[in-house]
Amino acid sequence: MHGFRFADFKDVIDGKVPGTHYIDVIGKVYEIGPIIETTHKHKCRTIKLEDLEGNQLCCTLWEPHTVELPAALSKLPNPDQSKVIVIQCVQAKRFEGVWRVQTTFNATVFHVNPDIPQVKDFEPSLSTPAPSNSLQIIEIPDDDVDDDYMSRENIRSISDLKENEKAGYFYTYGKIVNLDCTAGWYYDSCKLCWSKCIKSDKGKWVCTREQCDGYINRVTTRIPRYQVKFEVTDPSDDCVHFVVFDTQINQFITPTAAEMLAKIEELAGDKEDIPRELDAFIDKSFLFKVYVHEKFNVSQGSTSYTVSTLSDDADLANKWLSKYTEMFKVEHSKIKNTLNFIN
Ligand SMILES: [Zn+2]
Repeated sequence: MHGFRFADFKDVIDGKVPGTHYIDVIGKVYEIGPIIETTHKHKCRTIKLEDLEGNQLCCTLWEPHTVELPAALSKLPNPDQSKVIVIQCVQAKRFEGVWRVQTTFNATVFHVNPDIPQVKDFEPSLSTPAPSNSLQIIEIPDDDVDDDYMSRENIRSISDLKENEKAGYFYTYGKIVNLDCTAGWYYDSCKLCWSKCIKSDKGKWVCTREQCDGYINRVTTRIPRYQVKFEVTDPSDDCVHFVVFDTQINQFITPTAAEMLAKIEELAGDKEDIPRELDAFIDKSFLFKVYVHEKFNVSQGSTSYTVSTLSDDADLANKWLSKYTEMFKVEHSKIKNTLNFIN
């Protein structure tokens, strides 16, 4: 666990944190609301976090996050215990006149009671029981998770994915067989918004995203972040490329891309050298939530996809497998043997 940039609740509530920045928040879980559907048929859920000063901040969880957080909370040994969560990579947003934070599709990660000093600061306040009614709604029946999270509509094998005729998020399970580092293993990101940044003629780093302050002011700070292209296979097809970004990589290996690059530079190595730490992914199977892009994948037929979530959770993998075998009438054992299923 490393490199959190915790935003002050008061600053968010007062509208002092620009909506373009990615921030992390830490707080005691105070209230978890029900899942609701917006007018555009998107599912969301609002939770309330409380900081050490008693400031309460609303956080809107979108789509998969509506069930990911309760699932993470329900895994704690004592469900009645108060919880401190870190939500990594959210953005401030003004909604109905109130500043809050919301999760972001590609980057948000939850950490429940992580082992960091900031969580210890909450310990004295955790003995106070959570207000009644506040943590009751976290139990979601399995069916609900299935419908919401992985369903017939969004489960694919790798060959299905290549033939997909619509854009959107899909779940696929596969084994990483190789790293493709022809385009490097990291990118130069803008500190403010995580978009790509480039060096200007004046030698300053400038964000490429027009809405960002780092573009408008023609200066930002560059932070190297992981952008790793994996070759992934499954029994249905030879190979596709999945591109996995920063927070998803750091779920499995400790050093950040910036630390890794600094180490390579210190050893006077070539920046393009692939850090051996990334070999940890090879020959491992994961559940991938990938984005099928209308232009690149559907129209132009590119077989390189962006991964928004990488998971090695055995329960989720098995859930995917049972759904998949039911849908396509293939034998469990055939897929299990090919993919080194965890169970
Ligand atoms: Zn930027």
